[in-house]
Amino acid sequence: MSRPRTRHVNAAGAAPTPVELYDTTLRDGAQAEEVSYSVEDKLRITEKLDELGIHCIEGGWPGASPKDVLYFKEARKLTLDRSAVVAFGATHRAGVEADQDPALRSLLDAETEIVTIFGKSWDFHVTQALNTTLDRNLKLIDGTIAFLLRHGRRVFYDAEHFFDGYKANPAYAMRTLKAAESAGAERLILCDTNGGTMPWHVREMISAVQAGIRAPLGIHAHNDSGVGVANSLTAAELGITQVQGMINGLGERCGNADLCAIIPNLQLKMGRRCLDDAQLARLKEVSRFVWEITNLQPPTHQPYVGESAFAHKGGVHVHAIRKSPLTYEHIRPELVGNRQRVLISDSSGKSNLLQKAADYHVVIDQSNPNLAALLEQLKTLEGQGYQFEGAEGSFELLMKKAVGGYRRFFELIGFRVIVEKRREGEEAVSEAMIHLKVGDAVEHTAAEGRGPVGALDNALRKALEKFYPELQEVRLLDYKVRVLAAGRGTASRVRVLIESGDTEHKWGTVGVSENIIEASWQALADSIEYKLLRDHAQKQAAGGQEPPRAAQRARRNGKRPSSGDDGGVNRKGSSRKRVGRRERREG
Ligand SMILES: [Zn+2]
Repeated sequence: MSRPRTRHVNAAGAAPTPVELYDTTLRDGAQAEEVSYSVEDKLRITEKLDELGIHCIEGGWPGASPKDVLYFKEARKLTLDRSAVVAFGATHRAGVEADQDPALRSLLDAETEIVTIFGKSWDFHVTQALNTTLDRNLKLIDGTIAFLLRHGRRVFYDAEHFFDGYKANPAYAMRTLKAAESAGAERLILCDTNGGTMPWHVREMISAVQAGIRAPLGIHAHNDSGVGVANSLTAAELGITQVQGMINGLGERCGNADLCAIIPNLQLKMGRRCLDDAQLARLKEVSRFVWEITNLQPPTHQPYVGESAFAHKGGVHVHAIRKSPLTYEHIRPELVGNRQRVLISDSSGKSNLLQKAADYHVVIDQSNPNLAALLEQLKTLEGQGYQFEGAEGSFELLMKKAVGGYRRFFELIGFRVIVEKRREGEEAVSEAMIHLKVGDAVEHTAAEGRGPVGALDNALRKALEKFYPELQEVRLLDYKVRVLAAGRGTASRVRVLIESGDTEHKWGTVGVSENIIEASWQALADSIEYKLLRDHAQKQAAGGQEPPRAAQRARRNGKRPSSGDDGGVNRKGSSRKRVGRRERREG
């Protein structure tokens, strides 16, 4: 596959050198408004970044946070294959010498091989924020680095506000870098702390620095102007050694340069190697992991790793990518662990539908007589307000009902939901009664819930769990209601989107009605059917053997053994935990 490539040589005409990746998710990223990591969270992220192959992990600022002191103590016990955990701190206080500054002492106590120290490059900051003289600031830089080297540390130097400082007073900004270089700093990292510098100015200033400094350089770019990644790549193009950033670009204000974009750009577009191929293919997984631990919903349009990064909706596009993905994709999604998705919408044609069916291993022949009817049905449903993006579980059921592969696991006889408020000032109580049939057995169950939908969900599962014990592992993860605009002469409808999950998967289902309970019922029933159908298909693929335990249990209950029961789905610790976290958030 030939793709346009940039020049893969550096200024000296030699092959490009690898780039050192420095992640500061746990320090700078933890300063993002909505982020609060526990020590345990930080340790788990550290291990994940090590698996990805990040070279340096900035773990925290032990001089500023007691939590970070504990983190470094615990991080020493981790067995990391590739990553070095780095402690972060400032140059020592102006009023004392290095060996009297308790903050430097706590940096040593973190017991990391590498320490990153930040110092002032901008004359205005030295006199206004640090309240000292320009000469004294140079001594702080020199004295701090010398102190750490004396104690056997490797030292990286972060030149805070370097680009703003250089703009204001280039001679002084360069003197601060020289002070750090001659003191023995191993890397000089140029920081765009306020995130206001444009890529072409970054290029000019780094070129000027390269003319006067021999020590390897790095970049640390904030994203306040939306060019954090562009600035990092500009610096990389100039041959710098280290790129700092964060997984998912989380950070203070508008965040920092997103490593999930930087890494594939460096490696796939610029030929600057930083990870091996297998590590790069875990990028999306690591991105999702950090979103989950951070307890934030991943943005679907995140470049490279977002769910929508390789999603195609327009019929023409889908037709073309079926011939060659190169037509509308800039890289193969598998390179970063993502996947191509074909969305269904009223703009979709047969191509989308066939591609989508293939994704679900539903075999539909081009000439299947039900295909046209299915397309027609989809368009009708979408006209009524159904939307299958995000409700792929309902979509799969719909396809299987049309072209085969569907079976019924239960039959609804009826349900009733009561919401009762007994006294003013008291919370309303919801109760649902459900009446359904499984084979020849009739089941009548009631359950309560915090709301009418919760009560209905509880009653439905309670009624079905004795027939299908695997439903015990299904959790309702997210519930969204949207009011759809009323059409001419019709009342407004609601669309309910439900996300459910078990120990291994997540799936979305949808319902639409003028009645919110009815819309919710459709989505709930689809969710349960989808789970049963998928487990049933998996079991059949595995040879159709029913686990004896489940069969015995069914006989004990006096029921016909249910073919949907696999009784022993693999349980994965991590995904169980993940589901648990989501529940906490939404519950
Ligand atoms: Zn920063």
